[in-house]
Amino acid sequence: KYDGVGWRFDNTYMRLPDPLFVPTEPVKVRAPQVVVLNHGLARELGLDLGVCPEDAIASMFAGQELPTGSRPIAQAYAGHQYGGFTMLGDGRAILLGEHRAPDGRLVDIQFKGAGRTRFSRGGDGRAALGPMLREYVISEAMAALGIPTTRSLAVVTTGEAVYRTEAQKGAVLTRVAASHIRVGTFEYAARRSPEALRELADYTIARHYPELADAPQKYLALLRAVSDRQAALVARWQLVGFIHGVMNTDNMAVSGETIDYGPCAFMNAYDPATVFSSIDTGGRYAYGNQPNIAQWNLARFAETLLALIDPDPETAVRVATEALNEFPVRFEAFWLAGMRKKLGLQTEQEGDAELVQALLDWMLKSRADFTNTFRDLSSVEGLSREPYRDADFQSWYARWQERLGPTTGPAYELMRSVNPVVIPRNHRVEEALSAAEKRDDLAPLYRLLEAVGSPYVERVDLAEYREPPADECGYRTFCGT
Ligand code: AMP
Ligand code: MG
Ligand code: MG
Repeated sequence: KYDGVGWRFDNTYMRLPDPLFVPTEPVKVRAPQVVVLNHGLARELGLDLGVCPEDAIASMFAGQELPTGSRPIAQAYAGHQYGGFTMLGDGRAILLGEHRAPDGRLVDIQFKGAGRTRFSRGGDGRAALGPMLREYVISEAMAALGIPTTRSLAVVTTGEAVYRTEAQKGAVLTRVAASHIRVGTFEYAARRSPEALRELADYTIARHYPELADAPQKYLALLRAVSDRQAALVARWQLVGFIHGVMNTDNMAVSGETIDYGPCAFMNAYDPATVFSSIDTGGRYAYGNQPNIAQWNLARFAETLLALIDPDPETAVRVATEALNEFPVRFEAFWLAGMRKKLGLQTEQEGDAELVQALLDWMLKSRADFTNTFRDLSSVEGLSREPYRDADFQSWYARWQERLGPTTGPAYELMRSVNPVVIPRNHRVEEALSAAEKRDDLAPLYRLLEAVGSPYVERVDLAEYREPPADECGYRTFCGT
């Protein structure tokens, strides 16, 4: 089926022990229709979506009939949600299997919103169009920014309604990931069986950290390696003002990719206390708290590995704690290296961290836009604007110029390669989703995708995407359903 598309499925996760998954078929839907296809990503994966008529592609991405070689499953996992432990699992996601890309990479192909599973509990297993398009836009924006992330291959509507607070169009998102193994998958396995846990750990090493396969103390090495990738990832988030919004342990991938685009949003005005998620009333997942939460989640990961790390519990706790304590150090190093680039600093000097902090303090005080401030620093016209006439900014600027030295050309070039012009700003995302949902008008969505797809390029014709909202007081996001 779908000859010529180029699917090369393997189903490696299915070879893991039983409790880790349940074979599950997507539910058939009434009238699938393509909303958006990611032809660029398809090409990277060795897929050609142009060989079949569009209605066949729509059926394929709605799960009407699966591609040859796919053996669909729902994956089991658990997780700490807002600090509390729960058994979970794919309640509305179905893994078709792993596809082998031409470059040799093995990637998960997963449907989100394809019907109920063993793990659906009270949920309907479905997804609404708005949240699936939101994930598509923001995950593709993250990829274009060069930040590790799951990708979005397609969104199709089902021709059926899903009922939330009101009736909405049902949709299925096809998500592509290095894998969907979460910290929560380890939490689940650790509570189910020691054999499943060991096999999961070995599978994870083989798939994501093959260099550790023969390492001494390989499970401790796994903990260190996962921590390191998370430190690098969260530093990347901080450097672009990305707020994940729901950093539960089931939403942290051990591959080091950003996963689960629910209530996420990009910060406009710089403020570490920024929260967009309507349910995060305590600010647990606020922008400035993301590194702390990542470390907290890694402690939950470490707990699952203790018995594998050392048969002596005291030794295991001691070495795992040492590994976890490295996290803040690694995070700071990634973050400061990234901030140096954002300020065009090509060498390391004592006092750089203070220089960065002084700029952030000024941004907080003056409610400056995080993205645009960094971009404006490397442009003469940018700095002629009103907020920069402030005396505190001027004295910071003089200090920074002195640090840069007389030849600023290469510094500004570096800055323009790391400071985005365009991020998926909330008001633009909402505008595109509402046109698609309410008017079947996909033009704003496609235009937004074009803008966020080349985030470092200044395009006069897409200039409106650079502007922060006039007022975002009270902007709220919701856990994507
Ligand atoms: P999330 O907040 O997106 O990380 O989801 C938490 C859990 O709720 C996951 O196990 C999901 O599979 C499940 N879930 C979310 N929405 C639905 C739905 N509409 N039907 C069934 N399960 C769902
Ligand atoms: Mg989730
Ligand atoms: Mg979600």
